[in-house]
Amino acid sequence: NKFEQLGLNESLLKAILDLGFENPSEVQEKAIPLLLEKDTDMVALAQTGTGKTAAFGFPLIQKIDADNRNTQALVLSPTRELCLQITNELKNYSKYEKGINVVAVYGGASITEQAREIKRGAQIIVATPGRMQDMINRGLVNIKNIDYCVLDEADEMLNMGFYDDIVSILSDTPDEKSTWLFSATMPQEVARIAKQFMSEPVEITV
Ligand code: AMP
Repeated sequence: NKFEQLGLNESLLKAILDLGFENPSEVQEKAIPLLLEKDTDMVALAQTGTGKTAAFGFPLIQKIDADNRNTQALVLSPTRELCLQITNELKNYSKYEKGINVVAVYGGASITEQAREIKRGAQIIVATPGRMQDMINRGLVNIKNIDYCVLDEADEMLNMGFYDDIVSILSDTPDEKSTWLFSATMPQEVARIAKQFMSEPVEITV
């Protein structure tokens, strides 16, 4: 099992066994050791279906401090469906890691209930940009101390018109965090976000 050679801890390897993943996909093989080894920014060109959720999800779960209830990571994704899917996957990855809470934040559902979940302690928030911005505006969430920010399907988010929200949300996060950007394509708007908010990202392509 080549997952054992990527630097993942026992509880993740156990979860991976349950998931039935036999070998890492290309993006996982490239991204996981890099992200585990040091806190770096990363730009990954990868399509859907390449296993990119685990490529950022495994390192994220391993790096989160489960004993600290503060929000430590924000994952932005374009749609409610993807948001729920990522949340579900992250919960599966962290099933043997006690105390990690993943909360989904998306439009079209009760903001009060989502705020309540966050208040209980969400180390990882997976959000769509519009609802996330709304929650920030209402003071329902604090991302000022996060260590990790993942932009998933960045090109899709920008296609959907979330540029201003993304800029505003990222401006609300600390400079010292690590940002991991995943995109199938690299149009100018994505490059502009990378240039403005990332420093010397490692680049991987699959
Ligand atoms: P994603 O690109 O993250 O949306 O993943 C696409 C699908 O591939 C999901 O259903 C995953 O559960 C599955 N998957 C991800 N990584 C692996 C792997 N290493 N081996 C087998 N299936 C995987």
